[in-house]
Amino acid sequence: MSRARSTEVDAVVVGSGPGGLAAAVTLARAGLSVQVVEAQDTIGGGSRTLDLGLADGVLHDVCSAVHPLAVASPFLQSFDLEARGVEMLAAEAAYAQPLDGGRAAVAYRSIERTADALGPDGPAWRRLLGPLSTHPDGLVDVALGDRRSMPRDLGTAVRFGLGVLEQGSVAWGARFRTEEAAALLTGVAAHAIAPMPSLTAAGAAVMLAALAHGPGWPIPRGGSQSIVDALAADLRAHGGSIVTGTEVHDLDELPRAQAYLFDTTPRTLVRVLGRRLPGRAARSFARFPAGNAAAKVDFVLSGPVPWTRPEVGLAGTVHVGGSRAQMAAAEAAVAAGRHAEHPMVLLSDPTTADATRFGAGGLRPLWTYAHVPNGSTLDLTDAVTRQVERFAPGFRDVVVAARCVPAAQMSEHNANYAGGDIAGGAVSLYRMFARPRPVWDPFDGGLPGVYLCSASVPPGPGVHGLGGWYAATRALRSRFGITQPPSLAP
Ligand SMILES: Cc1cc2nc3c(=O)[nH]c(=O)nc-3n(C[C@H](O)[C@H](O)[C@H](O)COP(=O)(O)OP(=O)(O)OC[C@H]3O[C@@H](n4cnc5c(N)ncnc54)[C@H](O)[C@@H]3O)c2cc1C
Repeated sequence: MSRARSTEVDAVVVGSGPGGLAAAVTLARAGLSVQVVEAQDTIGGGSRTLDLGLADGVLHDVCSAVHPLAVASPFLQSFDLEARGVEMLAAEAAYAQPLDGGRAAVAYRSIERTADALGPDGPAWRRLLGPLSTHPDGLVDVALGDRRSMPRDLGTAVRFGLGVLEQGSVAWGARFRTEEAAALLTGVAAHAIAPMPSLTAAGAAVMLAALAHGPGWPIPRGGSQSIVDALAADLRAHGGSIVTGTEVHDLDELPRAQAYLFDTTPRTLVRVLGRRLPGRAARSFARFPAGNAAAKVDFVLSGPVPWTRPEVGLAGTVHVGGSRAQMAAAEAAVAAGRHAEHPMVLLSDPTTADATRFGAGGLRPLWTYAHVPNGSTLDLTDAVTRQVERFAPGFRDVVVAARCVPAAQMSEHNANYAGGDIAGGAVSLYRMFARPRPVWDPFDGGLPGVYLCSASVPPGPGVHGLGGWYAATRALRSRFGITQPPSLAP
């Protein structure tokens, strides 16, 4: 990788997930020639929408479905998805939490409406999330930053930190008096697939719950694919190219370039670099542990999920796990390497926001995944069905088809999800900073000109493109002497 070697392209990006495409767009817009190499036959990694052959005209989001981080991301805001025809649609409610005994709690876009519905806990909900939801830029700056820069809005950073400390410690029970409010926030915490209470889970809860009352939790019209398709179109418009169906095993398989950006796990990076990588770097990448996992279950339904409480059906996302204690028990089991008796299930019916998602005969997709230990081989279809049936009796009767991808098989459609780890490596407070290793530049791939730009670097998992932007701007500076990042505007 010496600069003296003649190059075929300026930069190569391995992987076409949102991080890889964000990096490629940034580099191409700076005037560089860029080639993306993708293992799968279709582009987009964790942001793909595919026909699984379950029912005519029904398309499924095989990984991500709901996009609070895309609308909050400074990278995608500058890229301006809406101006490129990606319509971000909001369901009437962001998320809901059904509870046993015919009860439920719902987070509406309006914090006032949410607080009113939470009754005695309304004021506590408003105090925790209101000031953060009205300062989304400050919140995003601290929660989705590169973990090396000082937050610019210190007041919001401190407020966020205090909220996380409270909800991530034994003090988490002190805020709410009702099960409804406690469970509503805990359902959001579960996105971290971490023990609860913990700072990791609380970080996810406070950030995502505040975003629900600010930028929202939208669903893109037509599915998650529309986000990555917009990135790919811009890349091509700036001269970049994408090769699909080509898994990279060794650096020698790639065109010669001045910069290589890996939208992969560090494990793949180490394998591809092989003996070129100094042993110390290889060992520190190898110490980055895998995270807990998910098993995906996609359904086709003949009608809406028959929730006992109809207002649950207004939400774009439903956290199906029961009470705070039940969800904490489920996550504790997974953290201990066991399957939970009642697993934590995340569920989304995209037709709550997007009427184009109906297939032939009014059939609809239902997106779910359940938390399981890494490497689980279990088919979770029955367990997920039972969990949903608990809060929506008669669910089984509207199920027309179902397909499970067990955690152990997730890597077959995306090598980054080894063992079903959907976060690109462990998510913990330490690992949010030492991600993937404890060095000053987390995007450094261990060799000059090599960078990581996936969910395995800050700010971590999610469809936001920020790992790609942070890595690409570093590559522009140090490999090409370009200190002014390019405009991303359409
Ligand atoms: C079931 C599930 C549900 C999720 N839900 C949400 C959600 O609702 N909202 C949200 O924001 N996020 C969600 N996520 C997380 C989100 O999808 C990921 O964090 C995000 O896609 C990570 O982006 P990335 O660019 O790092 O990598 P990925 O999107 O994982 O893409 C990596 C790409 O690199 C390719 N690749 C890997 N190795 C090689 C190789 N050796 N050669 C060539 N190509 C290679 C892969 O094929 C893949 O296309 C979900 C993930 C899963 C699995």
